[in-house]
Amino acid sequence: MRWQGRRQSEHVDDRRRAPAMVRVGGGIGILGFILLLILTGGDIGKVLNFMAQQQPAQVGVEQPDQELTPEQEARKEFSAVVLADTEEVWTDILPRSEGVDYREPKLVLFHGAVQSGCGFAQAQVGPFYCPVDQSVYLDTGFFDELADRFGAPGDFAQAYVIAHEVGHHVQNLLGLTDQVHAQKARLSEGDYNALSVRLELQADYLAGVWAHHAQKRFNILEPGDIEEALTAAQAIGDDRLQKQAQGYVVPDSFTHGTSAQRMKWFRKGLETGDAAGMNQLFELPDNQL
Ligand SMILES: [Zn+2]
Repeated sequence: MRWQGRRQSEHVDDRRRAPAMVRVGGGIGILGFILLLILTGGDIGKVLNFMAQQQPAQVGVEQPDQELTPEQEARKEFSAVVLADTEEVWTDILPRSEGVDYREPKLVLFHGAVQSGCGFAQAQVGPFYCPVDQSVYLDTGFFDELADRFGAPGDFAQAYVIAHEVGHHVQNLLGLTDQVHAQKARLSEGDYNALSVRLELQADYLAGVWAHHAQKRFNILEPGDIEEALTAAQAIGDDRLQKQAQGYVVPDSFTHGTSAQRMKWFRKGLETGDAAGMNQLFELPDNQL
């Protein structure tokens, strides 16, 4: 992907050096200290030992004084350029296609763990979008995982991941996320999952729509880029993930769609660039997804 030297979004919040402030346990306070001193018969060594075990633990965070490596800096710049590209494209096409103004989301970069508007999250959950604070959360270490664990290296694979999360933001602005969640109570788990799959495939479609327009405007694609995105879409399909995790596939618990479905809808968005085409995802019968 051609991204160097291009505009970077101002909406990146880089928290990779900030401690996540996750308190597990906590201090015992002066009263607790005195009480412990009494209970241990005045053995200060035992008290300090106990206190050491009670220190607030921070979950997987960088040391605050640790400088970011040039590679980590480059990842921020890259993510900021991709985010800027999504801003340009969606600000233009969302009002024209759906009659809704685009509000730019925030992209929070974190390392290990983060406090989001949707609660505390660890990197293991992967990149996610929180509708409450309209922010995309991304541990840039996920890009390594994409390359090493999922066999999907390359910068455009990473751009696809960001564009997919921004797709969830577009759904949120259009009220689609709320519509799906509102049905949770009255649907069986299987039916609700089927609906969630549509939401996920739609985000893939929207990532494709973005790529189509970003290419037109900024000529971002280099040879192999589309293959990188398709590899990522395939690698993180639910059937692949579940096979890796448990050795078999349970279609009822799919929430992202199969690898083939994810590739299909990304490609469709990419080829048509038609934002309004996203409605198909909630109109087609299951066997045509
Ligand atoms: Zn998603």
